[in-house]
Amino acid sequence: KPIVTVIGAGLAGSEAAFQAAEQGVEVHLYEMRKEKKTPAHKTDQFAELVCSNSLRANQITNAVGLLKEEMRQLSSVIMSAADHNSVPAGGALAVDRENFSKEITERVRNHPNITVHDEEVTEIPKEGIVIIASGPLTSDALAEDIKSFNEDEGLYFYDAAAPIIEKDSIDMDKVYLKSRYDKGEAAYLNCPMTKEEFTTFYEALITAEVAPLKEFEKEKFFEGCMPIEVMAKRGEKTMLFGPLKPVGLEDPKTGKRPYAVVQLRQDNAAGSLYNIVGFQTHLKWGEQKRVFQMIPGLENAQIVRYGVMHRNTFMNSPKLLEPTYQTKKRPSLFFAGQMTGVEGYVESAASGLVAGLNAARLAKGEEPVIFPETTQMGSMAHYITHTDGKHFQPMNANFGIMPALPNRIKDKKERYEALAGRALADLEEFKEAKGL
Ligand code: FAD
Repeated sequence: KPIVTVIGAGLAGSEAAFQAAEQGVEVHLYEMRKEKKTPAHKTDQFAELVCSNSLRANQITNAVGLLKEEMRQLSSVIMSAADHNSVPAGGALAVDRENFSKEITERVRNHPNITVHDEEVTEIPKEGIVIIASGPLTSDALAEDIKSFNEDEGLYFYDAAAPIIEKDSIDMDKVYLKSRYDKGEAAYLNCPMTKEEFTTFYEALITAEVAPLKEFEKEKFFEGCMPIEVMAKRGEKTMLFGPLKPVGLEDPKTGKRPYAVVQLRQDNAAGSLYNIVGFQTHLKWGEQKRVFQMIPGLENAQIVRYGVMHRNTFMNSPKLLEPTYQTKKRPSLFFAGQMTGVEGYVESAASGLVAGLNAARLAKGEEPVIFPETTQMGSMAHYITHTDGKHFQPMNANFGIMPALPNRIKDKKERYEALAGRALADLEEFKEAKGL
């Protein structure tokens, strides 16, 4: 049997290994977490979610929702596990993180074509067809080897995780259950703030002490996962247009819109844990307790996991990669996941799906495929390989990176519907043409 090696059993690597195995090739999957942890992962389970338990919007009129649907059409193991283990989250798809990872681990480990090696890989294998999906927290030795293979086109920035609190410690008389604009099932616990409460909180947040940044050379934040204190420092109003936006969250007790609202999202199936939405942070732990307990309803909040910040690594894909996720320098070497500059759990898994399919095709002597740009999967691959390499930043799924429709549709919802319809139709045709 032809062989494919996959390094890393995260979101991208698990999907890549599964897809390649389903194509009938023999897969060797390497994962180090049984013997070596990363600064963010807590378990040795595959596809562990290191921060939020939300895979974001589920409707196809949202780009990441469309991406999910495309993945379902390609029998994604990540999507199947997500759908089996969802927890209420309004219009979003959030999951019970433990059961989600457990299902993926079992399906990947038990696949007849996959052999798992529980060990760290310290350099890029020189021979054979290889997918590197070791993620933003790639171990140091491998990161060094990737850096030298890529002739130093690796960049650094920071990511941050939000605190998780115990539901029992929330003052339920002060908070209320509601989804923004009452969309879907009421899923969020909302902590309303008056102007005075907001101002006091804001002042405390911008003056709170942050943990020192040691090992990093340069401070560079990615907009999508900015620490709350950094966002706050941009101006008193910034958070009110971001995570503390009160619109559509009128307090049912008063019928009035609070000045600001902090939202809490269910974090596990049992509903015993909630995370503070958008509160990724680098504040010192004691400071997190002091400042976040100023939020109405959280006065006695029990923080079970504090917010943390970590290094995140991505490479200069426009210079280094093909839209098949093959490297330009060595076509038998693929990269997948966050390190290619796709940003997010679902995006990482989707890139793994494409890399896995393509590595298997190459192993079987078939041509790798480039997904149509009119699909989210294809437009992501196109984006990371065709933008200006000088200013390259990681990218989430979005409609803006897809080719425009032949006729301009003014209404946003109708336009997104048309883009999604075209994507799914083109994907169907593409699957047939390529025998996927
Ligand atoms: P990972 O899921 O990290 O998988 C990489 C795997 O490779 C890991 O299992 C690791 O143990 C293994 N590995 C590493 N080095 C080696 C080696 N040398 N040998 C063998 N195995 C190795 N995205 C979101 O959508 N929402 C969020 O809330 C979010 N929060 C984040 C918070 C943090 C702190 C970080 C760092 C990232 C966050 N991201 C978030 C971004 C991104 O979606 C995740 O990092 C995602 O897990 C990336 O998937 P991946 O497959 O590329 O990497």
